[in-house]
Amino acid sequence: MASTPRPFSSLRCIGCGRGYPLGEIRYECEACSGLLEVVHDLDRLKKSRDGAAWRRLFDGRMGVKAGIHRSGVWRFHELILPDLPEAAIVTKPEGDTNLYRSPRLEKESGAACVHIKHEGENPTLSFKDRGMSAGVSFARHLGVDLVACASTGDTSAAMAAYAAQVEGMRGVAVLPQGKISMEQLSQPIASGCLTVSLPADFDTCIRLLREVCRKRPVYLLNSVNPVRIEGQKSIAYEMLQQLGWEPPDWIVVPVGNAGNISAIGKGLFDLHALGIIDRVPRLLGAQPEAAAPLARAHREGYRERVRVKAADTAASAIRIGDPVSYDKAVAAVRRSKGAFLSASEQEIMDAKALVDATGVYICPNSATAVACFLKARGEGIIGADEKVVIIATAHGCKFSQATIDYHGGRLAGVVPGRANRIIELEADPAALERLLAPGGGAASRKDGQ
Ligand SMILES: *Cc1c(COP(=O)(O)O)cnc(C)c1O
Ligand SMILES: [Zn+2]
Repeated sequence: MASTPRPFSSLRCIGCGRGYPLGEIRYECEACSGLLEVVHDLDRLKKSRDGAAWRRLFDGRMGVKAGIHRSGVWRFHELILPDLPEAAIVTKPEGDTNLYRSPRLEKESGAACVHIKHEGENPTLSFKDRGMSAGVSFARHLGVDLVACASTGDTSAAMAAYAAQVEGMRGVAVLPQGKISMEQLSQPIASGCLTVSLPADFDTCIRLLREVCRKRPVYLLNSVNPVRIEGQKSIAYEMLQQLGWEPPDWIVVPVGNAGNISAIGKGLFDLHALGIIDRVPRLLGAQPEAAAPLARAHREGYRERVRVKAADTAASAIRIGDPVSYDKAVAAVRRSKGAFLSASEQEIMDAKALVDATGVYICPNSATAVACFLKARGEGIIGADEKVVIIATAHGCKFSQATIDYHGGRLAGVVPGRANRIIELEADPAALERLLAPGGGAASRKDGQ
């Protein structure tokens, strides 16, 4: 009889190191309640190929016309979930998002080279599709038919759209009432997800859902689920591939629950261990002042775990006071010799308008990363000769109200330094003609690119 192959991957507690099989449904360590991570047998992966051979393998899959390797997640299948059979994979495909060079940000900051990796170009308009492709695939592999998440908007949009692709799978989204955008709210409803609204903030929604998931056979697809983190690592893989495997000096990431920055860190350390890249970029985590527990922890030298009560912010997808992946994120950022910073609403919205006006439309969460990048450059944390990649996590179109309110001067506490006001005219050709005449207000803008 043929023996079953030894698996490449298992679960490990980041606190006490205790191991569990990957196929067990669990979200925390039985012994110490620590967060779990997926660990791959890196020695075995290393023996199978050297760094150059891995790069050739992945580069050879660029531009394929069919199959899972069209996906910016599953192009890296062997390093994401190597034991997961191809037949289980649920993909749209996702990823393959643009990496935009930003001359405007280079000029503004004096940094040598700045790119924006626009994850808002994913199928449901945020990076959450990468983790959900992995999470829903794994749920299907396990034979689960009910999946759930609490969400600040984008997680539920992605979960709903991937669950909808699987026959017999139902999604349940638990949302904080009035704290997510209209566009985000429309997404799980449209995809047929059971959509539950609670008069509570996100931190309460997730606590409540985790409690229920311990008692009922519901598969939790928040980023506490370590399988999702494996999918999200691919942001780093794809970015490096787009840069010809030449690492930048810094990667700037907006941080809410801190799953994504943990994922990017894990992905980078794995690539380095396998010889695919020769050094690891430093990570800069960005938070709005309204919800900045990690920025405070950084200032205080990580003496103790910081929890805050989140206040309102235009960056509503990262309005989180008690990040679920706190410990993972602190470990990844410290290991990379990085930092966490925070930005005010004014800085966030002005940074958004600056980037938006270059034709790259980003959301307030992504703009938090831009604002913290500008601040880090101003304070000399990021040097003038350094290469920077900023992760834009969602598309501006998901947050249209914030954009319209900013430009209309209606965003509380924000003076729009870069307002592009709507001009209301009578429906009369003469009025339009006056506007377009020399000196009529339609002269070309000099402050753009
Ligand atoms: C989820 C989300 C984030 C934060 O990601 P975490 O993994 O929770 O830190 C940032 N921006 C957007 C647009 C998001 O949807
Ligand atoms: Zn443990």
